[in-house]
Amino acid sequence: MIADSKLVDVVIPSPNHSGKRIYPLSRISVHCVVGQTSAESLGYLFAEPGIEASSNYGVGFDGKIGQYLPESYRSWCTSSYDNDNRAITIEVASDTFDPYRVNDAAYKALIKLLVDICRRNGKKKLLWFGDKTKTLNYKPKSDELVMTVHRWFATKACPGDYLYSLHGTIAAEVTKQLGGAAVSTSTAKVTKTADLKFNYLAMKGYVNVPSQVKMLQRLLRDIQYKGKDGKELTINSKFDADTDYAVRAFQKKNGLTADGIVGPATWKLLTGAK
Ligand SMILES: [Zn+2]
Repeated sequence: MIADSKLVDVVIPSPNHSGKRIYPLSRISVHCVVGQTSAESLGYLFAEPGIEASSNYGVGFDGKIGQYLPESYRSWCTSSYDNDNRAITIEVASDTFDPYRVNDAAYKALIKLLVDICRRNGKKKLLWFGDKTKTLNYKPKSDELVMTVHRWFATKACPGDYLYSLHGTIAAEVTKQLGGAAVSTSTAKVTKTADLKFNYLAMKGYVNVPSQVKMLQRLLRDIQYKGKDGKELTINSKFDADTDYAVRAFQKKNGLTADGIVGPATWKLLTGAK
């Protein structure tokens, strides 16, 4: 898989998709991850067939961009056949709690990515109507993309109130930057592909992968990392405060960034630890 955009830092192909989209590209759906994850961690998660979820792009907490499916593919992201067959989907790292704030670095990278997607696909305007019926009834012109949100298609907070309230600003900023700009094509190369050895990732905020959190807790307990309360970790398959504490302690001890995010480096050390 070749990155569609020069802005992509990491390419980690996901098996979770329906092949090429059956409708022309006319929408953009921005999501919140519910976890301050890296683009890499999100890619490893979507590389798991069992997760049955994916997105075309992911923006990490640090503004790094991952691509998991070609832009021409239908991702499994917005709980809607109709939407995902028309939309490029982008997951953005966010807090795990309301309003699911995203870092400035991630926000800036999102704007850049949106401008780039529009340019390469011959789009001059990004539109936000803020209303489901109006949006779904609108027929975008060939040089327009219209923004849709996950909460219209499922009982979810996604993209979170923080990003949701910024949708008008995002659309205006992207359209402004597109003004009269030349369309350039990407010559981006694959910068990195997934090493599927590190498939099993436990990630903050992903309560839908309990089996991975369970494995993480077992590993931490086996090597005597305790919870916040100084007691043995409870194997409850939930990325709770005690698990977070143990992960950070493990990272600190091993010279990694103590961010509580289990990425490939942490996982590799953890599975090799005595
Ligand atoms: Zn979503």
